[in-house]
Amino acid sequence: MKAIDKKQHILKTNSSEIRKTLLSLDDVSPYITLNPNSITPVLLVCDHASNRFPKSLGTMGLDYLDRLSHITVDIGSRATTESLARQLNTTAILCQYSRLIVDCNRNISDNSAYLDKSDGVDIPGNQNLNDNEKEIRESEIYWPYHNAIDTQISRLKRQKVSPIIISIHSFTPVFNGNKREWEVGVLWDKDPTTARIFINKLTEAGFLVGDNKPYSGKDPEDFTLDYHAETIGLPHVGIEIRQDLINNDDGVMRISNTLQKVISSLVLTNKSNNIQIKKPLR
Ligand SMILES: [Zn+2]
Repeated sequence: MKAIDKKQHILKTNSSEIRKTLLSLDDVSPYITLNPNSITPVLLVCDHASNRFPKSLGTMGLDYLDRLSHITVDIGSRATTESLARQLNTTAILCQYSRLIVDCNRNISDNSAYLDKSDGVDIPGNQNLNDNEKEIRESEIYWPYHNAIDTQISRLKRQKVSPIIISIHSFTPVFNGNKREWEVGVLWDKDPTTARIFINKLTEAGFLVGDNKPYSGKDPEDFTLDYHAETIGLPHVGIEIRQDLINNDDGVMRISNTLQKVISSLVLTNKSNNIQIKKPLR
């Protein structure tokens, strides 16, 4: 990953410049934390949980169907993360704004943090963004979300809990005209051990599993894991679920039931590797 200075999130202020705000009192907070006091050694993160735009940005120039589609949100990822957090009684942090406002799973210096086109669809609200507009999105959404993840990792460490960071995403069955057969993708780079357990157990459960497919954890597009887990040596894995498997309640339940069994077994396995469990998993 590209080096990023954590101090970068303290934005430069220019007294001669009048900064407009992005979020108003009518908007929800940039992120939500579930089970914020849990000491289960698992931290779930969901970067692309929402299709919400700040009220000040209107529709971003997109039509109704595009605002509900995979270019705007990882369909089903929020429900799956919530279900896992409930079943495992574990902390989860979910971003409450669309990836199109600012993609929290990208290095902020990467152009792909602000897509002006996705899967063939133009994003009018992201055309010709100036630095000030980008900085406002960073300061009001991107960094609050990432700082919340840092806060939870610090809290758990203070309680002598070393969490496994699990990033939950979903992918569209067809992208740029290419069909994707995998049902679940396991993304990894620096932690092949955790990934292998997911690959094996999900395969045993009957899923067609992509090993670093449809995306690779070795690419820079998994910023959240690079930034929060790889840098400090926490165990971690990225999970990508095909959206048609979790676009309904039954599907969410089926996938989350399987994933919670894998995660529970992983946590128990890691107990012998000094990952402390203060409270049994439900
Ligand atoms: Zn995603």
